[in-house]
Formats: sequence, structure tokens, C-alpha cells
Amino acid sequence: MLSEFDLIKRYFAQHSTTDPRIALGIGDDCALLNPSPGMQLAISTDMLVSGRHFFADADPVMLGHKCLAVNLSDLAAMGATPIAFTLALALPEANPTWLQGFSQGLLALADEHHCNLIGGDTTKGPLTMCITVFGELPPGSALRRDAAQVGDDIWVSGTLGDARLALAGYWKEIKLAAADHKLAAQRMHQPTPRIALGVALRGIANAALDISDGLIGDLGHILERSKVGASLHIDSLPAGPILSLQPLAKRREFTLAGGDDYELCFTAPIAQRAAVIAAGLASNTVVTRIGCVQAEPGLRLLDDFGQTVSLQLTSFDHFTTP
Ligand code: ADP
Ligand code: MG
Repeated sequence: MLSEFDLIKRYFAQHSTTDPRIALGIGDDCALLNPSPGMQLAISTDMLVSGRHFFADADPVMLGHKCLAVNLSDLAAMGATPIAFTLALALPEANPTWLQGFSQGLLALADEHHCNLIGGDTTKGPLTMCITVFGELPPGSALRRDAAQVGDDIWVSGTLGDARLALAGYWKEIKLAAADHKLAAQRMHQPTPRIALGVALRGIANAALDISDGLIGDLGHILERSKVGASLHIDSLPAGPILSLQPLAKRREFTLAGGDDYELCFTAPIAQRAAVIAAGLASNTVVTRIGCVQAEPGLRLLDDFGQTVSLQLTSFDHFTTP
């Protein structure tokens, strides 16, 4: 039988580091960080709850990846470089197979982004993981939600809607071939945090966020905080590879309001178009221009002919979405 301390030691504390930014890692009452001189800390927390954010029988390797990925995505959306994270874990039981898979998926992504596991808490309870990430960035360079300017282009990274399509497959809302469903599900379970793009956009983009609850709802946060409006060219939204094959109405619905995409939506001055494209190339990330920021409040959806489209779409909300 694994004790709490054996469990921490075996699956999480092996993540020792020689990173000079970590003065003290797992094992004491606090971890100690040395952010690089002159840098500002960026801190974010995200929690994943079984039955709410993932199925109870989800693959533990993918779950380990996803719970860190959604946190790194917040650092990316701010333009921050990852330093470290803590992990608070509630487990129904100490199952070695599950823990082995979970820590493997988690720590592989952590290593990829040089993000060190520096502490946490472990307790028995309904399966829940809560991660806090720490990143750094030069003062004044954060990509904030309140910084969009009238006239800015609106951009999005990668593709949208495949995670929602995977869900539609699970719910049998849409019939998908097994291979197609697998591809879409991959996007749902293993999102790619756009860290390199976020960092490359420092000094180029004005405002940014990561899309977790659906593009229109999340873009709405930028518009509200920046006190501006926007129009979106909804048929230029980059759909994921499987979603591209679906009928127009589904493509529109899932790219606009799908959720769980973890792509970046950002605004940048027209004069920075070439720089945005260069940032996309440098970070190996597709970027697509999807609209523009306007003084008139509200969000206008336009089709390929420039006609206004009226769609009843809402983004995901934990307390109002059934
Ligand atoms: P305390 O009683 O002081 O809160 P704990 O006994 O909870 O300390 O944890 C012992 C050490 O193990 C601490 O350094 C803590 O940060 C670390 N730790 C606990 N759980 C985890 C976890 N899931 N992942 C990483 N480190 C953990
Ligand atoms: Mg503790």
C-alpha cells in the first residue's frame, strides 16, 4: 500500500532540477523561486474536476498532459515564459498504474516547456487536480485583455472547433468515423499550449487571451475589458481538419462557440501584420486574421459576402450551461 509520502516521492518528487530559477523545490514547507533579474512574475491557477472537465475513466497520461497544458495556455496568453508549477491533487485511491500514467503525461509536458514541479498537496477525495503555474516576463510586456485598440486586426492561432466536435462524437450528436473521432479527440485531450507564440508576440500584439470557453465568449472578454467592439469574418475562422468536412452550420457553431480549444486570440495593429506572421513562423504556429476591432460596441458576425449573420450562440459557463 502506497503512503502519501511514498506516492509524492515516487511519482512527483523525481522531477529534480538544476534550473537556477528554482532555489528550493519539493520537500520543504515552501518552494523558493529566483525569477530572472528584472522580470515580473505571471501566476495563474486552473482546476480540473472529474465528471466536470473530464470523464472519470479518462486516460491518465492524457489527463496529466491536459491539466498542465490548460495552465501553460494561460501563461502563453499573457506572453509569459514558464518557470514552475505546483500540483494539488485529490485522489479517490493511490492506484500505481493511474499515478504512473498521470505523472508521465504531466512531467513530459513540463520538461518540454522547462516548467519545474516545485510542490503541491496530496489528499484523498474525489479526483481533482489543481495546478498553479508561475511564469515570467519583462515588466510592461504582458498581453492583457484590456489593451485592444480600435483598428486592430483580430487573429487566432491554430484551428478551432475540433474539441467540440469530439464531444459531439461522444454524445452521438454527430456520427463520426472512428479514425476521425480519434483525431478530433486528440485535440480535445492533448491541447497544445502556444507558449512560443505568446512570447514571440510580446511587443507586437496589444491584447490576448486563450480560448477555453469558445471564441465569441472569450473574445467578448477582450472587447468588454478594452471597451471596444468588433466584427468577425466567421467563414475565415480556421476549422480543425475533421471539422472542415462538416456542413457550414456546424463549422460555424463549433469554431465560434466550441470551447476547449486552448488557442490564442489576440489583437495587433495593422502595421504589425508582417510581424505577426513572422511570429507565427518563428513559433511554428499557424496564425489567421479573423476580424477587426471597432469603436462601435458589440460583436458583429459577417459572412464571406460581408453580410451580417445572426446566430444564437453562447459560450460555456459552469453555472448556467446545463
Ligand atoms: P505540508 O504538510 O507542509 O503541507 P506536505 O506533507 O503536504 O507538506 O507535502 C510535503 C512536500 O511534498 C511539500 O514540499 C509539498 O510541496 C510536496 N508535495 C505534496 N504533494 C505534492 C504533489 N502532488 N506534487 C508535488 N509535490 C507535492
Ligand atoms: Mg500540504
